[in-house]
Amino acid sequence: MTDGVVMTVTGPVPASSLGVTNAHDHLFLRSPAMPGQEFEDIDRSTREVIDAASHGLRTVVEMTPIGLGRRPDLLRAVSSASGVAVIGATGYHRDTHYPAGHWVTDASVDLLAERIVADLEDGMHPADWTDDGAELDAARAGAIKAGASYHHVSERERRRLEAAAIGSRRTGAAILVHTEIGTAGHEIVDLLEACGVAAGRIILSHLDRNPDAELHAEIASRGVTLEYNTLGRTKYHPDSTVLDLIGEVVAAGHGDRIMLGCDLGRRDYFRAYGGGPGMAYLLTTFVPRLRGRIGDAATDAILVSNPARVYALAAPA
Ligand SMILES: [Zn+2]
Repeated sequence: MTDGVVMTVTGPVPASSLGVTNAHDHLFLRSPAMPGQEFEDIDRSTREVIDAASHGLRTVVEMTPIGLGRRPDLLRAVSSASGVAVIGATGYHRDTHYPAGHWVTDASVDLLAERIVADLEDGMHPADWTDDGAELDAARAGAIKAGASYHHVSERERRRLEAAAIGSRRTGAAILVHTEIGTAGHEIVDLLEACGVAAGRIILSHLDRNPDAELHAEIASRGVTLEYNTLGRTKYHPDSTVLDLIGEVVAAGHGDRIMLGCDLGRRDYFRAYGGGPGMAYLLTTFVPRLRGRIGDAATDAILVSNPARVYALAAPA
């Protein structure tokens, strides 16, 4: 087990203490790209986490980035109320989530990077720099979010990836990149590696939207971590597709490069808001089937030791 340190919203903890980890999720979010789907109710988010915790969840990585309704104060409150560790994020999403005129849209790489580093080292900005007078939250971010578009990285997304690379090199934090429908994986990794980021610091998210085991094995063999989160997302494909995919990637020798999350990015996905599949689904419904497919050791690597290794802060490069 890793003996590194992970930064949670309530402070640094040994990576070996994370336990079963939901490697990509959201507790608070608001995006102009998803009107009517915002979720900002602390009681409901706390209920969702407590329900998942009753089935064994110990850590949630909350990947809401700058400009999408991050709430570091509420992340601390949910963590305290539920007993579940929460890792908060800094960084930026893909273009579609920033309205015209948002400061993120035209910011320089230097400014984008400076704010990522501030979130990681000093404390998360409570208003995402829309209020210069606000005091930094006590919570420090523990991971960096970035995003790319469908089959391409736009010019603005490239700048944000460069800023994420600077933040990661300076602090050792991992970068989780939103891929659009699982595309542009190699291109994103090429770009980050050209910026000096080690493959072990890179996580590609939503790759299972394109459940192509050969492609995933290729990306994993570069040393990149694959994060899957379409379990229970039946509108895309049945869970059997994700189970087949994991089975194939594990059989190809890359069981150490897979993590799972729920990515409840819309209010409709929360049980606590009257929707589904909900955060507990990972452990109540998907993981029992996964254990049946690949066994306990490979399942525990995906749920426990892989996230502990990836989210542990590396030595600054
Ligand atoms: Zn997400």
